[in-house]
Amino acid sequence: MEGPMRMSDVLTNSQPHNNYNTLNNEENSSGSPNESGFMVNKRAMYEPGAVMVCSQKRACCVVTLGFVAIIAVALIVAFTKPGCPEATYTGEPLPGQSIRPTSSPPTTPPTATNGELFPWTSVRLPTHVRPLHYDLSLHPNLTSRYVKGELTIKLTAIEETQQIVIHGHDLNVTSYKLHNKYEKPIGISKFLEYPAHQQLYLKLDEILRRGSNYTLRLSYEFTLKEGLEGFYLSSYKTANGEKRYIATTHFEPTAARAAFPCFDEPQLKAKFHLSIYREPHQFTLFNMPLQTSVKAEDSDLILDQFQESVEMSTYLVAFVVCDYDHVTNKTSNNVSVSVYAPPMMISQASYALRMATQILDFYESFFGVPYPLPKQDLIAIPDFGAGAMENWGLITYRETALMFDPNHTSSRAQQRVTVVIAHELAHQWFGNLVTMAWWSDLWLNEGFASFMENLGTGVAEPGWAMQEQFIVEKMQPALSLDALLASHPISTPVDDPAQIESIFDTISYKKGASIIGMLESFIGQDMLKAGLRLYLEAHRYGNAATDDLWEALTRILKKSGHNLDIKGIMDTWTLQAGFPLISVGLEDGLVTASQARFLVCEENVTDPNEPLNSTLGYKWHVPLTYVTSANPKNETMHWMNLTDVEFEVGKEVKWIKFNVGQRGFYRVTYDEGGWDALIHVLQTEPHTLSPADRASLLDDAFTLVKAGTINATVALNLSLYLKRESLYIPWHTALNHLFSWVQLLFNYSAHTLMLEYIHTLILPHYERVGWMDTGTHIERLLRSEILMAAVECGNIQAIEEAQKRFAAWRNKNESIPPNLRSVVYKTGVRYGTEEDWRHCWQVYNTSSIPSEKSLMLKAMAQTRDPWLMQQYLEYTLDGSKIRPQDVMIVLSEVSQNPGGRLSAWRMVRQHWTQISQLFGHGSFTIGAIIKAVTSPFTSAFDLGEVESFFSNVDVGPGERALAQALETIRLHIQWHEHNLDDVTQWLHQQLSQPEGRDE
Ligand SMILES: [Zn+2]
Repeated sequence: MEGPMRMSDVLTNSQPHNNYNTLNNEENSSGSPNESGFMVNKRAMYEPGAVMVCSQKRACCVVTLGFVAIIAVALIVAFTKPGCPEATYTGEPLPGQSIRPTSSPPTTPPTATNGELFPWTSVRLPTHVRPLHYDLSLHPNLTSRYVKGELTIKLTAIEETQQIVIHGHDLNVTSYKLHNKYEKPIGISKFLEYPAHQQLYLKLDEILRRGSNYTLRLSYEFTLKEGLEGFYLSSYKTANGEKRYIATTHFEPTAARAAFPCFDEPQLKAKFHLSIYREPHQFTLFNMPLQTSVKAEDSDLILDQFQESVEMSTYLVAFVVCDYDHVTNKTSNNVSVSVYAPPMMISQASYALRMATQILDFYESFFGVPYPLPKQDLIAIPDFGAGAMENWGLITYRETALMFDPNHTSSRAQQRVTVVIAHELAHQWFGNLVTMAWWSDLWLNEGFASFMENLGTGVAEPGWAMQEQFIVEKMQPALSLDALLASHPISTPVDDPAQIESIFDTISYKKGASIIGMLESFIGQDMLKAGLRLYLEAHRYGNAATDDLWEALTRILKKSGHNLDIKGIMDTWTLQAGFPLISVGLEDGLVTASQARFLVCEENVTDPNEPLNSTLGYKWHVPLTYVTSANPKNETMHWMNLTDVEFEVGKEVKWIKFNVGQRGFYRVTYDEGGWDALIHVLQTEPHTLSPADRASLLDDAFTLVKAGTINATVALNLSLYLKRESLYIPWHTALNHLFSWVQLLFNYSAHTLMLEYIHTLILPHYERVGWMDTGTHIERLLRSEILMAAVECGNIQAIEEAQKRFAAWRNKNESIPPNLRSVVYKTGVRYGTEEDWRHCWQVYNTSSIPSEKSLMLKAMAQTRDPWLMQQYLEYTLDGSKIRPQDVMIVLSEVSQNPGGRLSAWRMVRQHWTQISQLFGHGSFTIGAIIKAVTSPFTSAFDLGEVESFFSNVDVGPGERALAQALETIRLHIQWHEHNLDDVTQWLHQQLSQPEGRDE
């Protein structure tokens, strides 16, 4: 899956005074109350070897309760045949008491909808049976919104059992039947539903025999809702304004159960067969190609039947009922690739088709495993919570992540399309063919897809410098988030749906990708590729855990005579939260380097009650790379194996730059002489260091200032060289940090000084890049950012130019080149009238170009009119005005507008119940909203307000995001305490120098 927004979107599409480091650099994060105590008891009862536990508990029950005869009956029910694993069922309750063993802590007994005790207490399903095959028949009525389902599941019993527990969410099951393999019926004495765990329970009259197959038949019904998950209704408007409905699915991670009863866990793979009824003017899509279409016997409807799927997880099942157009192509291996879109958007689909076809070809050769399905569909969905979803053979996309029009869409938005296509196609192998054994290893899916997306995009668009962009898109945002105490390890235990939702975050995606990038840097791409091939071969159509990947890589390395303990090295990166700060010193040619966990908030560094303890002691295997003044092009590496190191580099060395190309997941700080020497190099001969190294120095220095590790003047002195910097990667990094300081200084006199200083840095580049939308891809990316920065800094000429173009667009319909649109629209609205705003609202409502609509949403948030701002915020509560999928974009953009941030915060508080009902269950959104609206806050008073509000509301899967948001505000307070005086003084001094202002 891919998140709805990226850090890069925020950067180029918002005004640069966003606090880029803390806002939306993550799709979602959170956590949820840990049930560990509860689970420990369950495990003690249920796991193998529990025989003795059972016996003890039995005895305990007898003694404690005293009603020997009654208890004996209860225990027979609770712990009787077939054997101890069956003890998972706590059986019938006695009147007025739970028969849960008395050694269990009192927890609310799970109660089924009919008031009976629900006998299964875990959010995970029992392992006694597993599905082999689903045959699903659906009859959705898009007008009445009624859906009728008939489902046949072929099961096999892994162990003897008399119960079946299966997932189901908001489904009304109207009949249930079980048959053995000879079609002899097996009685079902009880059917219970437990909505809290989204489970259904069937008590059988007979014991299922181990190794035997059975058939479970269920009839059910449910209502098709306008939502963003499960099987849901979406709509679009035709060119003449007619509203058309489509029905579509989004299941990852736990919403397949809202469309059909199923064993909704990723390791319970099965084959799927679908038949679905539709109106004659519509068509349907499924993971597999259509097999037959016949007219229904008793109506005008058509029944579509699809080919049976391969073995796959429930979360990857997808189907759509719609009336779209499509374009089709074939890969060199004859796989049919199609892009589906509403008819008036189909002309924007050809780019995606070309990219998908090329990238599919590339992945087949890279992974050495053919794409296993006969077709790959990509479809644009008007209401889509995530960015895209990798359903096997039927990938669903937010419109902005699939549609591209060369006359309208910016290079940034085009890159987003290609990257998301490359991400989802990588999942067809990583995730779909080989799936993580459980969600705690989600990073195997998302980290790899995020790593591969740069590689795949780079092959399809070789001029885009995608490998260079890796550090600003993946490494830097991941390092930023992972420096918070409220981060989490890449591999992290999760159980319930809210916890699972919460790990679809920057750590799984970007830190995952970054540590794979680091691994590639020390074993080489050929070894990585060979290891991945072995891993995919070994686990195809199955599931795997992180250790399986390390084992495959170790085997490949051994074959080539390398003896690297990959698991030992990588465990330090996947099992511990955070990363090390390497402190280096250089004296007489001797380098000393020490490692310690880097936490950006000082209070956490000394907190003795730090909750996250690592058995590895927060030490890492660090591939410490460096270049020196003596050999600036020749990279050397020393391993820091959980320890500090010392080594000689020669007395002639004047400077050393560590973490070459920022390919290692760590930060570096130097002694004073070390920083001074690097500042000197950047100012005198910046091109001695690569663009990535220049960016990495900026990123480390500004972050270390935040943490109070180095003085603010180090970062500021370093930034002076930017007058001579002409490339995108260092500039992107620098603007990110510089404008985060602007935001921190918002209420202080240094605010204007900071803007003035940034202006001196960008001015020569503003004049150089100009207003012609020309050049290479990354030159265009740079131009957009520099022009917006100029407007932010109050450059009169830039503001007037943007206003002039805005007026010509509005009044004379003059087209604006795609990469200038963001700055022109934003400036036009910011300095414009109510009529200007209304014009944008009208364009938003009538345009059929998703990239244009997205720009309008962001531009309208720039208004300085309090009433328009308020009205705009209120529109987010009305799905007919702003689609729920876009609410987060509006809230986050308005929060970044100094005139809107308090209104956004007020709005979120006032309507929290509604917002949490809309987004409380989905990936990405709720956490992103919390972060977006709180990210501008910088004072103790704000912190108190945020803490106090959220202490009284349920944030669902947004809990970890909330912890991160609070820590970020504390970090802002800390920044002021440490740096305000130094920064103000430095800026005064710098700007009072003649060259300071004039250059
Ligand atoms: Zn993904």
